[in-house]
Amino acid sequence: MSAIVEEVSLIKSLKKYFGFGGFKGRQQQIIESLLNGKDTLVIMPTGGGKSLCYQLPAIISGGTAIIISPLIALMKNQVDLVRSYSNNDEIAHFMNSSLNKTQLKKVKEDLVNGATKLLYVAPETLTKQENIDFFKELEISFVAVDEAHCISEWGHDFRPEYRRIKIMIQQIDDTIPIIALTATATPKVRYDISKTLQLEEPDVYIDSFNRDNLFYEVVPKGGKENAFKTIVKFIQNYKNEAGIIYCLNRKTTEELAEVLQINGINARAYHAGMESKVRTATQDAFIMEGAKVIVATIAFGMGIDKPDVRFVIHYDIPKSLENYYQETGRAGRDGLPAHCLALFGYKDIEKLEKLMRDKPVAEREVGAQHIMEVVGYAETAECRRKFLLHYFGEDYDAKDCNCMCDNCKTPKEKLEGKEDILLALKAIKSLDENFKLHYIVNLVTGSNAQEILAFKHNKNQYFGKGKDNDKNYWNSIIRQAILNNFLIKEIENYGILKLTDNGHAFIKKPRSVKLAINHEYGRGEDPGSISMKGGALDNILFKMLKDMRKQVAKENSVPPFVVFQDPSLEDMATQYPINLKEFANITGVSSGKANRYGKKFAELIKKYVEENEIERPEDFVVKSVVSKSKLKVYIITNIDKKIPLPTIADNKNLSLKDLYTEIETIVASGTKVNIDYYINEVLDEWQQEEIYDYFKEAESDSLEDGLAELGSDEFELEDILLMRVKFMSEMAN
Ligand SMILES: [Zn+2]
Repeated sequence: MSAIVEEVSLIKSLKKYFGFGGFKGRQQQIIESLLNGKDTLVIMPTGGGKSLCYQLPAIISGGTAIIISPLIALMKNQVDLVRSYSNNDEIAHFMNSSLNKTQLKKVKEDLVNGATKLLYVAPETLTKQENIDFFKELEISFVAVDEAHCISEWGHDFRPEYRRIKIMIQQIDDTIPIIALTATATPKVRYDISKTLQLEEPDVYIDSFNRDNLFYEVVPKGGKENAFKTIVKFIQNYKNEAGIIYCLNRKTTEELAEVLQINGINARAYHAGMESKVRTATQDAFIMEGAKVIVATIAFGMGIDKPDVRFVIHYDIPKSLENYYQETGRAGRDGLPAHCLALFGYKDIEKLEKLMRDKPVAEREVGAQHIMEVVGYAETAECRRKFLLHYFGEDYDAKDCNCMCDNCKTPKEKLEGKEDILLALKAIKSLDENFKLHYIVNLVTGSNAQEILAFKHNKNQYFGKGKDNDKNYWNSIIRQAILNNFLIKEIENYGILKLTDNGHAFIKKPRSVKLAINHEYGRGEDPGSISMKGGALDNILFKMLKDMRKQVAKENSVPPFVVFQDPSLEDMATQYPINLKEFANITGVSSGKANRYGKKFAELIKKYVEENEIERPEDFVVKSVVSKSKLKVYIITNIDKKIPLPTIADNKNLSLKDLYTEIETIVASGTKVNIDYYINEVLDEWQQEEIYDYFKEAESDSLEDGLAELGSDEFELEDILLMRVKFMSEMAN
């Protein structure tokens, strides 16, 4: 076939099987390479169209392609995706331990009949001799090794079974071409892949890792409350946009999700400790837009291809830059701008290092190296994009990355670090290279810490020589000395600092070193903690707001209490919110409500504030978790499960009335709850309608007024309360 004919037919096939009009990037060359029987190595960032590189050739080749993929959980998705392009289900199957006998039989039949073009298997599947024997009898078009970085210990997701793939392929047929694909690989990992799979003079395709629509930023983390506050404020600029927040531990995901919910952000936690049903539901809610923000451990996001994720936040710094790149890579797949924010504090690094201490030596060394690179990324004053791409072996030269990172947008001030690095190195040498970072910092800042006195190092010649700068400064100086390869930190010796040859050379002949010192990263205390709001109620404004509420209610033909309830107006008359963003912070005001009714109120308050020269609370208060919130979460999840309300009340030792009141506060904070399943059980349809209609016309949300109007013969107070919950949930959110 001539090249032109081939090209035309490939594009035709692309259109026919996938509906695309043209190839992306170098997909076509990659496919041609594989179709020509060449071993092929593809390094293509997520979102580049990696899977098509084996899906299309599998479909148009004779026989079946074996796709090796690391995660059983994702295989079904991958198969569904291929099937969705086709009108028969036989075209793609997976074979792993999750299949029952009948399912396995069907898969094998389709394979033998030649109906299946793509077979997804886990590496474990290939370890079974009976499977190998079965595959020997089939016509195999090629083997695709997806997520090929799992082969390398230097990758971020090492899977020992991956190292045996080649041996197993050899048993099936040594002449089958192999295509290895990964979205992340440093030069070292690339080499490992080629070597371990014994790729024969492979065609190598490396796409640029640059994601030019992503904005990279690192900010100081501070204590937990401060970090939560930073995140709430950040997300308030992204109201109603989708985002992912990564945390290291499960408890934090739940706490943070709760704080976000309380601040009117539709967030959910996701971690490996949750039931798989709940996890799937959360993932689906995110994809289907029911949940806007997911607060997750790293378990979340693999295989999720949601195009419009507008931000990825790292609450904890990841344990390697590959993780970081991979996780931030889930933002902005639609090509539109997206923001990658990392919170960084030295305490996190210490945590990661501690986790490393009990690992085997080899792993510890790899891990320590990864951590240093992450610290380097966080501390760099250079372009972050350049730093990141350099890590993947790519030279990136665009001037200032079009201001798409914080360092290019707002360049950091750089200091001459020569003298201070020299002081630190000399101090370390004077102590025979036997002490850890914090000890050296204590020494040079002249701390009278117990251990310094115990060693009589307050008599050391470098004691207090650096006391003009604080501990954070010296922490940063020593970290940067490590990054500049003047020092190494011996993890196996609990982090003792040793001079390198470079370090010794520097002491002999110091040279200029430009450093960006960021005092902020070490800050442990919060500048101002999240607190529930204080301040005095402005009665004049409160009355004006009430009048405004009447007017807005009339315009919208809803009862006034549907617009805003009294506690919300009181909060407005205390906090003086002047725009919709601030409005969403008000008690009982969801962002939907702020958008729907807030504008006129905000204008009124703004005018009032200006005319009366009122000083507004400078720092807008972030709502914190109230103590009852655990109960709220319990109620929401149980209502989701359609548990009868009396059972929920019983389980929590509440009266039914108290439970209803709790549900109302949940509704008032912007969370929709659907209790129809219960209402339908306890109230007749006509009763429901009558109470509902009553509230539509009512002047106040008073239950007693309701009962007087509706009549106590037919209704009880609790019925009215129950329907008010439904009414508020539907009308007000
Ligand atoms: Zn930059």
